Amino acid sequence: MVTPLSDDIWWYDLSGVNAYLVDDGGALTLVDAGMPWHGNALVGGIREAGFELRDVERVLLTHYDFDHVGGLSAFDGVDLTIYVGAADARFVTGEERPPLSNHKGALQRVGGKFCSPPDNPVEPLTDGETVGSFTTYLTPGHTPGHVCYVSEELEAAFLGDLVMEERGTLKPSPWLLSYDTGDVSESVRGFVEHVPPFEVAGMGHGVPFKRGGSERLAETAATL
Ligand SMILES: [Zn+2]
Repeated sequence: MVTPLSDDIWWYDLSGVNAYLVDDGGALTLVDAGMPWHGNALVGGIREAGFELRDVERVLLTHYDFDHVGGLSAFDGVDLTIYVGAADARFVTGEERPPLSNHKGALQRVGGKFCSPPDNPVEPLTDGETVGSFTTYLTPGHTPGHVCYVSEELEAAFLGDLVMEERGTLKPSPWLLSYDTGDVSESVRGFVEHVPPFEVAGMGHGVPFKRGGSERLAETAATL
């Protein structure tokens, strides 16, 4: 089931985690890929939004975590490119495993047992790089390579797990799920300072906002 957030953006509520489908000026884009068992739901949502699986040109991953990369293998055989923040890229391809020296890295290793590396090419992104109408904002803390994607044209931001929605407000990624909560706070403040205004805010968890996204994130940044 997908819910439209605007003319070009659909929300997948995958029970416990979100993903998004975006018609980026004709380039169909999936933002995050749910858990390993969400492949069918992702494909179903594409049809529901009026597209075909082969129309998907790219997947933008906000970070490497079990609940955001799990469904990627549902797209093996589809001609698309996967983008992810550079520091998380080698975990997505399986070339490297997250460090056991960090509590979050250890958690990622457990989740990683359920994920198989995708067949499609994985392109690492750095801060400020663009993909279609999206600009990449490096926002480390939840993971070292966590990024947010912002389309000024679509007035939308995809925030991954930088913050999560809880009862209408945005909360920064908590200690248990973060590599470094100091970095999370710094990332939220830095992002708010540099990002152009946006309406739609798509978080990895909780209910996305259709309006006033940047203002509501600024309210959270002011408390950090
Ligand atoms: Zn998550």
